[in-house]
Amino acid sequence: MDVNTSIIRQLNVSRVFHALRERPGSSQREVVRATGLDRATVSAVVGQLEEEALLARRPKPRRGRAGRPEEELRLSEDAGWFVGIRLEPRELRVVATTIDGRVVAHEQLPGSADVHEAISRVGDTVRGLAEAHGVPVSKLLGVGVGVPGLMDHGGRLALGPNLGWHDVPILDMLRSELAVPVYADNDTKAAALAETLFGTCRTVTDFVLVIAHSGIGSALYQAGMLQRGWRGYAGELGHVKVDPGGRLCGCGGHGCLEAYASERAILARLEEEGVACRDLAEVAARVRERDAVARRVVEDAAEKLGMVLATVVNLTNPQRIVIGGGLVEVADAVLPGVRAVLRRDALGPSGEGLEVMVSALGADAVTMGGIALAMDGFLSLPSWLSFGQLRRNAREAVPPT
Ligand SMILES: [Zn+2]
Repeated sequence: MDVNTSIIRQLNVSRVFHALRERPGSSQREVVRATGLDRATVSAVVGQLEEEALLARRPKPRRGRAGRPEEELRLSEDAGWFVGIRLEPRELRVVATTIDGRVVAHEQLPGSADVHEAISRVGDTVRGLAEAHGVPVSKLLGVGVGVPGLMDHGGRLALGPNLGWHDVPILDMLRSELAVPVYADNDTKAAALAETLFGTCRTVTDFVLVIAHSGIGSALYQAGMLQRGWRGYAGELGHVKVDPGGRLCGCGGHGCLEAYASERAILARLEEEGVACRDLAEVAARVRERDAVARRVVEDAAEKLGMVLATVVNLTNPQRIVIGGGLVEVADAVLPGVRAVLRRDALGPSGEGLEVMVSALGADAVTMGGIALAMDGFLSLPSWLSFGQLRRNAREAVPPT
């Protein structure tokens, strides 16, 4: 089998897989319609998935009398689990799902500033989670890890400003810790993949995702493809300068966006002004109570985020901007400001029709990103291919009902 044939075969498997994930209980005929593939191909893929015990079929309840009885197809509940992890300096957030992405377990643990300790904690957590739920480790289909930092194409963390780590072969380390398939990527890029699979961008090909936790990251999809840049470091929106010589950033520079608008920065700025808040939910409550200091800090964060996003809009003309991570907590206070700055600073035609919205994945955007990475790896798709594009093509093949 040549490379092209093998890629096409993988693409077909992934189309059928995602069609069944999104429409469980479909008949083979419905999968043909949803994917735009021909009957023989769908039948072959369904046979292959069944042989690998990833798919179950049972008779479809009959509606009316006409036609042959049909079978409904589902991804098999017993096939195994995916695990998604968000690795942050203060916290490790873990989620496990069934093969079709349904969340079955959730955990939050303290993080670690020491890379070796953090990695072994990931290993212990994954093994512990599987044991607690009676899932053999061999049934873990893949583990995906979102890392806040600059990851190169080979899974090496070149720089994690808020972790204090640099030049760490993090993917290799995770692979030696865990005896299951492991995938790792920059946290925001992983979250963007999750938006295309489970979130707000299932049919959108041109979007920007902004995630703020300890820092601020972004991921850009253009024509259905994630833009990674030459070495893989594209998307470091948090380090765009908004105030030359301004506040000190985790990267060592001054005046970066994330020194004003990340979760950590907003909390630090409030504390400097004598308003101590535990988290952004508390900040949001203060803004609602019309606390002047909280409003000023949040409005300034929105202004600076809007300025940077206006430049992104002028450069890349996205259809949608999605805000995720901790900022979701203060979205009601931040989004009107961001929209106003975009109207002011983005060129008219570039901003026309632009939608600015909050990620539906909430605080789990990156953990679900880990699930998306694991699913992507499990289906062994080359990373340059895009589910978004595939799904859009598949949808176009479905006649309007
Ligand atoms: Zn910076």
